[in-house]
Amino acid sequence: MGILFLIVEDDRKIRKFINFSLRSQEYDCIEAATGKEAMRLITTQNLVAIILDLGLPDMDGVELIKQVREFSDIPIVVVSARDQDNEKVEALDAGADDYLTKPFSIKELLARIRVVLRHSNDNKKEDAPVVYRVADLEVDLEKHKVTLEGKDIHFTPMEYNVLTLLIKNSGKVLTHKYILKEVWGTYLDSEIQSMRVFMASIRRKLEKNPAKPRYILTEVGIGYRFADE
Ligand code: CA
Repeated sequence: MGILFLIVEDDRKIRKFINFSLRSQEYDCIEAATGKEAMRLITTQNLVAIILDLGLPDMDGVELIKQVREFSDIPIVVVSARDQDNEKVEALDAGADDYLTKPFSIKELLARIRVVLRHSNDNKKEDAPVVYRVADLEVDLEKHKVTLEGKDIHFTPMEYNVLTLLIKNSGKVLTHKYILKEVWGTYLDSEIQSMRVFMASIRRKLEKNPAKPRYILTEVGIGYRFADE
């Protein structure tokens, strides 16, 4: 059997669109229109990833994520409406891996899937990479060395921790809460503002034009995403 995806979406048109997009890449798909049917398939099928609409008729999508996370690390990409940032943040903090905003293109869908599959393969490998390269940037985790266009850049230990967290998850969105928890060990809403200031200082060292970042992208209302390539 090939790579099997589960598409959970009650809107038939969107479900068929996702199915068509994935099949065009020779991925296999099964579909569920309700949370109950989704749970049945998740517990019985050998899935590679789940694409999950948050607005289901019988169940809150975030609730479904919480239930799945009790027994599985399977990648989950959520699908949500444009004006529902809170819902996206809640889903990501509940353990979803990334999100798509309706309406989305095949290109966006496949980009998210590619990143999610790559990270899930990295997690299975014994030795994660020690040197990360994105465009002109190189981060060597073993030597604690960051170079841009071949020149060394100095980061404070805290800045370095934020940068390495982002780059290890490149292509994937990280919420404010996740970053604060991972780097500072705590989470308070009031700290989001100081994290912005902190991020700005990293960008000044990294970005040619900090107003139009090449590496650290802002996901408005949600968090940050390190460029995938
Ligand atoms: Ca829906």
